[in-house]
Formats: sequence, C-alpha cells, structure tokens
Amino acid sequence: DVTVNIIDEMEKQVAEWAEKQQEELDKYKAWAEYRRNFVGDISHELKTPIFNIQGYLHTLLDGALEDEQVNRTFLTKAAKNLERLHTIVEDLEAISRLESGALMLEIQTFDIRELTEEVFEDLEFKAEQRNIRLELKDGAAQGFKVQADRESIRQVLTNLVHNSIKYGKENGRTRVGFYDMDSNILIEIADNGLGIPKKHINHVFDRFYRVDKSRSRERGGSGLGLSIVKHIIEAHKQTINVRSAPQLGSTFGFTLKKSKGD
Ligand code: ADP
Repeated sequence: DVTVNIIDEMEKQVAEWAEKQQEELDKYKAWAEYRRNFVGDISHELKTPIFNIQGYLHTLLDGALEDEQVNRTFLTKAAKNLERLHTIVEDLEAISRLESGALMLEIQTFDIRELTEEVFEDLEFKAEQRNIRLELKDGAAQGFKVQADRESIRQVLTNLVHNSIKYGKENGRTRVGFYDMDSNILIEIADNGLGIPKKHINHVFDRFYRVDKSRSRERGGSGLGLSIVKHIIEAHKQTINVRSAPQLGSTFGFTLKKSKGD
C-alpha cells in the first residue's frame, strides 16, 4: 500500500514537471515568434525610406542634377526620409530599452501639471504650424503631485500631445485635464481632430500600427509612439486607454499613483 502511494506521488510529480516544461517551451516559442515578427516588421519599415532615398539620389545622379529646382525638391525629400529613418531607429532603441527591462524606474514625487506645461513649451512650435492651441482644462490650475518616473512620463506626455497635434484638426485645440481618483490621478489628453475609426481603436497601441499609413508618414511618425507609451505606463503598473469618435476627436487617458499627503 505504501509502495502504491509512493508511486502515485512520483507520477504526480513527474506530470507536474512535464507540465512546467511544456509551459516554459510554449513561453519560449511565443517569445521566438514575437522576435521573428518584430525583426520582420522592422525590416519592412526601414525599407520604405531607404528605397525612397535611393530613388531620389539615383534620379539626381542620372541627370536631374542640371535642374536647380528639381535638385532642391529631391534633396528635401531625401532629407525628410532620412529624418524618418532617424525617428524609427530612436524609437526602436527606446523599445529595446523598455523590453530588456533596462528601464530602471526612478520613482519620484513631482507635479504633473508642471511637467505638462514643460511638454507644451517643447511642442509649441509644432502646434503653431497647424495652428492648434495647447491648453489645460478648466480647474487644472491646481497642481497634482504624482509618484512616477518623471523622464519617462515626459516621454508619454510628449508622444500623446505630439499625436494630438499630428492628427488633430487644423485651428483646433488639445486639452489636458487631471482628475483626482482616490489613490490615482487620471490624466487625459483630448483633441478635436480626425478621431479613430472603431475597428482600429484596439490596435493603435500595437507597434507599427497606423490607421492611415500615408498620413502618419507625412507627419513624420514611426508607428512606435503609442507602443512606447503603453510600455512605460505598464512598467508603472498603471493603465492607459483611448476613446474616440470619428471626426470629433480622440481622448487618451492614463493613470499615475497619487503622492500621499498632497
Ligand atoms: P505614429 O508614429 O504613426 O503617429 P503612434 O504609435 O503614435 O504612431 O500612433 C499609431 C496610430 O494611431 C497613428 O498612425 C494614428 O493613425 C493613430 N493615432 C494616434 N494618436 C491619434 C490621435 N490623437 N487621433 C487620431 N489618430 C491617432
């Protein structure tokens, strides 16, 4: 009887071990597939600007150089594509830092309204180009203290406000609001621009996902901005979401831990 019990116990342990091994293997397979897809996506994304630059330079070398006007146009286009390549590589570096866990969050207490105003200042020039007003929602005059990594939250706000400028309505506005939610502060960035069609909304945080490829490219996007934003918010164990109505605008909202005692 005792022997039977021991055998039963051993069999159970072997089964558990096998199950664990299978789980590890599945995890590895999922990771390997993720890597494979990622590398594929990256090559695909890099190819377009490289191909464009080659095209412009070859056309110039093949004779278009004689014409000053064509010269200028083609070189400007080549430079624009080079800028895009630069953005993609920088965003890839950011993603790689985030994924390798090298992002050591340096949690500190700071005023989220102050940080928002700094981001507004940095993006003012871009907002002016589309005549978009950057403003704080009424009642946001009061500051809110949060606990988070200030520099990575600056990146989050920069990407979201920059998107609201890129996809916002010309002559429109971007409004940032703060809401007290017990232990968290909710930060909302609202534009009154294009909006996001329903069938795309669940994908906008995916890497390289764009609702309108040509618009994103024309505005200098890498398709990685929101994916970086999501990584950072998740590293803080907080949440981010978006609601949107086509032609009315989009609102991105994320939470941060409220600093106690403020
Ligand atoms: P991109 O570099 O293309 O801007 P993002 O990851 O920042 O990449 O955004 C992904 C896509 O989500 C964009 O290409 C755009 O189609 C859509 N999107 C993001 N923000 C907004 C917004 N505020 N309004 C409308 N569409 C948006």
